[in-house]
Amino acid sequence: MAEIEINSLMKQFGAFQAVNDVNITVNNGEFVFLLGPSGCGKTTTLRMIAGLEMPSSGRIAIGGRNVTFLRPRHRNVGMVFQDYGLYRHLTVFGNIAYPLEVRRLQRAEITRKVNAVARTMQITEVLQRKPDQLSAGQLQRVAIARMLVRDADVFLMDEPMSHLDAQLRGQMRAELRHIQKSVGVTTIFVTHDQLEAMTMADRIIVMKDGEMLQFATPREIFERPATEFVATFVGEPQMNVFDVHITRIEGKVVAMTEDFVVPLDATWVRENGVENLVGQGARLGIRPEHISVSDKADGSHGVAAELYSFEPTGAENLYVLKCGDVTITTRSSTTETAHLDKGEGSRLYAGFDPNWIYLFEPGSGRTIA
Ligand code: ATP
Repeated sequence: MAEIEINSLMKQFGAFQAVNDVNITVNNGEFVFLLGPSGCGKTTTLRMIAGLEMPSSGRIAIGGRNVTFLRPRHRNVGMVFQDYGLYRHLTVFGNIAYPLEVRRLQRAEITRKVNAVARTMQITEVLQRKPDQLSAGQLQRVAIARMLVRDADVFLMDEPMSHLDAQLRGQMRAELRHIQKSVGVTTIFVTHDQLEAMTMADRIIVMKDGEMLQFATPREIFERPATEFVATFVGEPQMNVFDVHITRIEGKVVAMTEDFVVPLDATWVRENGVENLVGQGARLGIRPEHISVSDKADGSHGVAAELYSFEPTGAENLYVLKCGDVTITTRSSTTETAHLDKGEGSRLYAGFDPNWIYLFEPGSGRTIA
């Protein structure tokens, strides 16, 4: 087991800054996810930790040892890549045994270890097959088995589930999390799939344009996002965000769009200094699950809107509403909204839960409240 410590990590490709001042401490045994859109520098960061890419500057330590300029094989890290990197001419057994043969373990010891890890990954029956005789799910298990078989200090995984179908991904999420926790090896996992990160991670690093935006638990990332980008990157469907003007109506601080007024909670306004924004513009965010829909206007459903599209997902209904130029996506349980009209163009009323409103600074995207 080992802690990973990264300080001021930078990587330039020519004039392009792929990784910009990344600072991370991953605790012993922790499962940390690097999450962000394509091209944000996740893979480059992981490759620098593995030793496959040299940093332009900065420091990487594993288990207190400075490994910044060590070759990959002197870092004792196990890796799984997106394309698995299996040898086509070797059997599954041969592939899993390979890292042990390189380390010159005795034959009996190799057989024992390979069989043990094959049982854990449930691939015992395919040990004698070649990679091209395996399904995507089996290939992935073999790649993970090959990573697990060595006593590595650290595991690094780059989108290992990207070739699996949705159902298998769901199964593998639970399985991989279980395995990581039972072996207890410090692991960094790269993904652009927020659901993967949210369901499996101890902590998540959200990256954009080579920079870390937030490093926190999934719950903190979800409930207290540092920026508008983080807020909209996690959660499905996406958080609603629109331009508002902060103003006072009858002495109360509210947020206004051109078409409707969003009442704000007085305590929240006071605690977050929202009074200071009166007269200014802001970006208002609220998640679909925090907007309820009614067919009657009342105190808590004051936003008159038109139903643009209705999307039943089984357990839940998504109502996409239009109010002037603003699109409002709402999510509610099927039973709660069973009685509502589902025809496009129907008149419905949206109610924003004042306990779950966010304000972001226009431009910088920083969370104000
Ligand atoms: P993806 O999810 O698409 O793999 P990523 O977040 O992992 O994206 P990286 O692969 O780390 O992103 O790439 C970050 C940026 O650096 C990208 O713009 C990429 O084009 C660029 N880049 C990566 N490797 C090189 C290289 N060897 N030479 C030049 N530019 C590179």
